[in-house]
Amino acid sequence: MEELMYCEGCGAEIQTKEKTKSGFVPRSALDSEHIICQRCFRLKHYNEVQDVEYSDDDYLRMINKISDTNSLVVKIVDIFDFNGSFISGFQRLTGNNPIILIGNKVDLLPKSTNKSKLIHWMKKTASEFGLTVQDVFLASAEKGLGFDIIEKEIEERRNGKDVYVVGCTNVGKSTFINQLINRSSGVKNAITTSYFPGTTLGFIQIPLDRKSNMYDTPGVVNRRQLVHYVSDKDLKVITPKKEIKPKVYQLQDKQTLFFGGFARFDFEKGMKQSFVCYLSNELMIHRTKLDQADEFYQKHVGELLQPPTQETLEQLPSLVKQTIKIPREKTDIVVPGLGWITVPDGGVTISIHVPKGVNISLRPALI
Ligand code: GDP
Repeated sequence: MEELMYCEGCGAEIQTKEKTKSGFVPRSALDSEHIICQRCFRLKHYNEVQDVEYSDDDYLRMINKISDTNSLVVKIVDIFDFNGSFISGFQRLTGNNPIILIGNKVDLLPKSTNKSKLIHWMKKTASEFGLTVQDVFLASAEKGLGFDIIEKEIEERRNGKDVYVVGCTNVGKSTFINQLINRSSGVKNAITTSYFPGTTLGFIQIPLDRKSNMYDTPGVVNRRQLVHYVSDKDLKVITPKKEIKPKVYQLQDKQTLFFGGFARFDFEKGMKQSFVCYLSNELMIHRTKLDQADEFYQKHVGELLQPPTQETLEQLPSLVKQTIKIPREKTDIVVPGLGWITVPDGGVTISIHVPKGVNISLRPALI
């Protein structure tokens, strides 16, 4: 039997037969000293992403292997897509192993964000999702923020055991592991990273000491994530890349804000107030009158209201409206994957339109 080989970038099992499946390498490239799959090769050299076929069931089955281990689970979520990056039934998949939760991409938050409020909200939401976590930490895998504490906590809590790093696609799991590897060994970008979901295809084993390992697990695809409703090109615009600069809109009732063509915010009823939008700096916001908003959207989506563009419009499910009464306190309306809007005084009625399948939520304001 031929010896199995694994991609050095993503851990997928190397194969030469099916181009569209994970781990494909042209036969001619098998002789090179370092073997990486065609997908990682393209990503590395051309920054181009190829889709490979992996079913959700495959991912869940792989993650479920953790329940048979005695280990520490480090679960990573994207604080901009907290609900979207949560996997339901997660506790079942990982058995009785202790879990710590890492909120990644903290560098994108405005400096004035109340971090302890954020941690409190994360703990509360995790428990609402049926997940008991030992503790919550904030990190920026990209900038290395929070890692002094996180390294120490992982070392103490694992107590000689293996560590499994889990999270759904695009939360920054590979970047997180690369950061840990870089800090301990000086090696940069040991694992392939990308702008796009689904880079990490197999378990990658990283030795921690002579007896134990850290495992990078495949990113579970979560259908609630906005990333699955938008094209790769649009994703670049709506995903914040730098610290978010809040944009303030003083609105009367019966006014509407459009966030590109992705979401719409209708101020239905209540006292005039200043709403603060925490979204990607590159996402255009347009204000219009509520009674003209339907027509405005029909006419301008894909053009003035971008992204999506004309080419990517087809991919976007139609927007679904949800009307909510905001409690009488400063409240954030969270749109997973996009950001949030702060309602300063509360006590108002708002309608939010988001692509079908995306679930919005409310929380006490973080700022
Ligand atoms: P994975 O699919 O979970 O392994 O995610 P990746 O590590 O490939 O990261 C997904 C995207 O998020 C990439 O575009 C990263 O550059 C970005 N990213 C990861 N960590 C951070 C972070 O701490 N801050 C910011 N701003 N972006 C991050």
